[in-house]
Amino acid sequence: MASIRYFGHAAFELRFTGLDGREKRVLIDPWLGNPLSPVSPEDYAKSIDKLDYIVVTHDHGDHLGDTEYIAKKTGARVIAIYDLAVELGKKGVKTVDGNIGGRIKVDDVYIVFTPALHSSSHGVPVGVVIGGREYRVYHAGDTGLFTEMQFIHELYNPDIALLPIGGHYTMGVDEAVKAVELLRPKIAIPMHYNTFPPIKADPEEFKKKVEEKTSTKVVILKPGEEMSYP
Ligand code: ZN
Repeated sequence: MASIRYFGHAAFELRFTGLDGREKRVLIDPWLGNPLSPVSPEDYAKSIDKLDYIVVTHDHGDHLGDTEYIAKKTGARVIAIYDLAVELGKKGVKTVDGNIGGRIKVDDVYIVFTPALHSSSHGVPVGVVIGGREYRVYHAGDTGLFTEMQFIHELYNPDIALLPIGGHYTMGVDEAVKAVELLRPKIAIPMHYNTFPPIKADPEEFKKKVEEKTSTKVVILKPGEEMSYP
């Protein structure tokens, strides 16, 4: 049984069976120091027996977050866009670099970087499709809406989409509803809202609009909550 745990903002932990048949634990955008997070980076690193990968969508502080600390504590490899991976490598972090285009050749997980309409200082921002035997999850990163989300559905067919709804820096509720129409996941989980005043949003409004318009189910995870899948 695979699972997804939310730590608030854009931070998630995925657990699933890898393509090699072994259990994988992956963190995405691990800013565990965020104001909503139920666990500190220190306590998180202490609480787990192993971490396989950390995926970072871009280098803004609220996404890069506690990557360096957790990577060094756990020995996890960080998968990031080439330019950011180079920077992290200089700090002694183990990395896998990749770029937007096709599957990244990591044997034990399925991973593809996708475009994101946003900014960053090192390389371009990305979204990611990642998973193993039970599911593929699309984490949109920080992004505005773009029509190629339709290709993410057609090419990678993610079961679960993690979508920003906070507006101001990313899609707001109405753009994220449109994203669901293009991505057609089984489940959508809202993220990147209510961490700071400018990104205040109502996840119930997102849920209502998505479920009126599409057959996708919206699961609202509170920080600290975990969802099993399937
Ligand atoms: Zn950002």
